Amino acid sequence: MTEVLKKIQKRAAKADAGNKIMDVIFPLRCPVCDRPVPYPERRQGVCPECREGFLLIKGARCCLCGRKLAGSEEELCRDCRINGGRHCYTKGIALYEYNDMMREAVYRFKYEGRREYAGFFGKMMAKQFGNAVKRAGVEGIIPVPLHAKREAERGYNQAGLLAAAFGAEIQMPVYEKYVIRVRNTPPMKALAGTNRQNNLKKAFKIGQNDVKLNITIIVDDIYTTGSTIDAVAGVLLEAGISRVYFMTLAIGKDF
Ligand SMILES: [Zn+2]
Ligand SMILES: [Zn+2]
Repeated sequence: MTEVLKKIQKRAAKADAGNKIMDVIFPLRCPVCDRPVPYPERRQGVCPECREGFLLIKGARCCLCGRKLAGSEEELCRDCRINGGRHCYTKGIALYEYNDMMREAVYRFKYEGRREYAGFFGKMMAKQFGNAVKRAGVEGIIPVPLHAKREAERGYNQAGLLAAAFGAEIQMPVYEKYVIRVRNTPPMKALAGTNRQNNLKKAFKIGQNDVKLNITIIVDDIYTTGSTIDAVAGVLLEAGISRVYFMTLAIGKDF
């Protein structure tokens, strides 16, 4: 018995040393401040100084997009009221407020190769929303796709990484190619209003139809006006999926 115990202890010590070496070669970076996270804190994913750096959305939310509401008298945020509550998606939720810290983190996550942030974000999404997503009967997770060319340039799709991390936590399948992006649309800011919506409509199409899904959830990094998520949800509805939820890492404030 003691022999077995000794063996286990030895193996654990070896693994620990291995982890420490990995930590030096590939330091896990804190998604808030981007400094390496010290080894004992790795499980947390965020360095001890930054634990309060991101603000979880709490209190009254918009019934459709989940945005934190400015006042509690309303059911919908200003954005959803303006478009008469018409969305292709059924309902959605976001984890964090899109504050300056979040903006910087998302920038590094998307454009500066910090793909390791996905682990922490996926865990947090699972902790906050995992049970609700399961209770809603969701059968599969669909990340907002990037155009193949853009994904090749960047080396990854940040929404795909989030979806994969979340799916692994709650053990739900992720369908990365269920919807594909067939048009490399210009960055959102370059286009306004109707133009943007028209452009987006044709940007997505079904890429995989050998799996029959009824209820799905779209995953993306940021929800701003919801036009991208609506465009993806529209394609899914047309393909016969009956309910499409969404979940994003962050969402802008109601104003
Ligand atoms: Zn930090
Ligand atoms: Zn809303």
